[in-house]
Amino acid sequence: MKLMQFLSSSLLELITQTSTNLPPDVRAAMALVSASETPDTQSSQALSIILSNIDMAVDDEGPICQDTGMPTFLVHTPVGVNQLAIKKAIREAVAEATRRGKLRPNSVDSLTGVNSGDNLGPETPVMHFEQWEQDEIEIKLILKGGGCENKNIQYSVPCNLDHLGRADRNLEGVRKCILHAVWQAQGQGCAPGAVGVCIGSDRAHGYDLAKGELFRTLDDVNPNPELAKLEAEIMEEANRLGVGAMGFGGKASLIGCKIVAANRLPASFFVSVAYDCWAFRRLGIRVDAASGAITKWLYRDPARPLDRMAKGEGFPLTGREVVLTPPLTEEMVRALRVGDVVLVSGEIYTGRDQVHAYLMKNPPPVDLHGAILYHCGPVMLKDGEQWIVKAAGPTTSIREEPYQADIIKKYGVRAVIGKGGMGAKTLAALKEAGAVYLNGIGGAAQYYARTVERVLGVHLMEFGIPEAMWHLRVNGFAAIVTMDAHGNSLHADVEKRTGEALEALAPPR
Ligand code: SF4
Repeated sequence: MKLMQFLSSSLLELITQTSTNLPPDVRAAMALVSASETPDTQSSQALSIILSNIDMAVDDEGPICQDTGMPTFLVHTPVGVNQLAIKKAIREAVAEATRRGKLRPNSVDSLTGVNSGDNLGPETPVMHFEQWEQDEIEIKLILKGGGCENKNIQYSVPCNLDHLGRADRNLEGVRKCILHAVWQAQGQGCAPGAVGVCIGSDRAHGYDLAKGELFRTLDDVNPNPELAKLEAEIMEEANRLGVGAMGFGGKASLIGCKIVAANRLPASFFVSVAYDCWAFRRLGIRVDAASGAITKWLYRDPARPLDRMAKGEGFPLTGREVVLTPPLTEEMVRALRVGDVVLVSGEIYTGRDQVHAYLMKNPPPVDLHGAILYHCGPVMLKDGEQWIVKAAGPTTSIREEPYQADIIKKYGVRAVIGKGGMGAKTLAALKEAGAVYLNGIGGAAQYYARTVERVLGVHLMEFGIPEAMWHLRVNGFAAIVTMDAHGNSLHADVEKRTGEALEALAPPR
């Protein structure tokens, strides 16, 4: 038998399952969150879509979220196993999974901005190797997207924190840092999320260890009683903040808190927090060291049937939804108010970081008057001459804050769809020009892909698939008005309310 002849197919299966099928502990946590949310709120509507999306991803073996992140592998090998061969097999499997649309091409040259197209490149994917005394190889994988990766945060205590005051070099200071980390993520990291935390170490390794905590199951108990107590306290307190699903305001902010402590330098005291979103994708396999065949799945039992997550069909419609068909007029968008639910049917354009930077210096390739601009970097595959959408949820909008106001005013855009909301400059531009911000449900990539009737074209393809400007015809694309043309912002309101809730947790105990 050829040495490790099955390793490539085992790795491809690991990547496919990780991207498309949430592990049971995350499913259980999300089911609990959904069951305890107040019915008929924006947060419960968001959760309905999220649960449907989880089912759809399994049904179609499509990415749960279009942002499949920086693939990060943690490999344990018996002494004597050829790690170079495993690295080569991982690279091949990553490229093949990308070709099959299970991973989005996410590897961008940081100097030229060019997307490699196959998720390979310097330091991509990320691979950590350890030796161990066992006979089998263990390979764990986490796919953590950019929206939640951008909400990772590191504190150097003592420090002063918004709403919480001074955090000292003790467990009380650590508690404040973690609560602050959950609060600052709001909806931008697609709440409810989970945090992996490292107390101590140095800056670089602290982040590594924090991310490593995300490999623990959400329902385990920390073997260190002091840390177990802190984890339980954080879960209870963070879920009193009122962030809610997607930051819409609601009961759940956090589905997991996992903490490790590492020794530190006398002069340093870091608290490193890795924030992961509800689309918490991590799985693992054990493989036979001779054949490379899977001997066991970690985190799940493939023999156990999967429970369906959704109770109903996607977005529960009430009949009060406003149908928006572009091109939109100023009158149409001024009639909308924060909290309105809209169903977009018609033609829209995607545009994210590179498109926004481009439009600041160049005219758009299409007429954007009355248009809807969708902050989205989809997963696309070509079938003959026709592009097919494989995953297409919204990306974090706040990255476009430096550009959005100018683009709205200059080109006559009437609506922007994204997630997590935008800042004061965009809010002022919406009011001045007559435009709205529509919040889609972050991570609901399968749900939104199914609203796309046809890909009508693509512009600026030189930016790569996620960054190109895609021209789509959608039907029944559901979103919530969270910033209107009258100066109202649900995001600003929720941030203020949760800030007050955070302050209430600050008194020394
Ligand atoms: S669910 Fe949200 S934060 Fe998570 S990877 Fe998807 S877009 Fe990013």
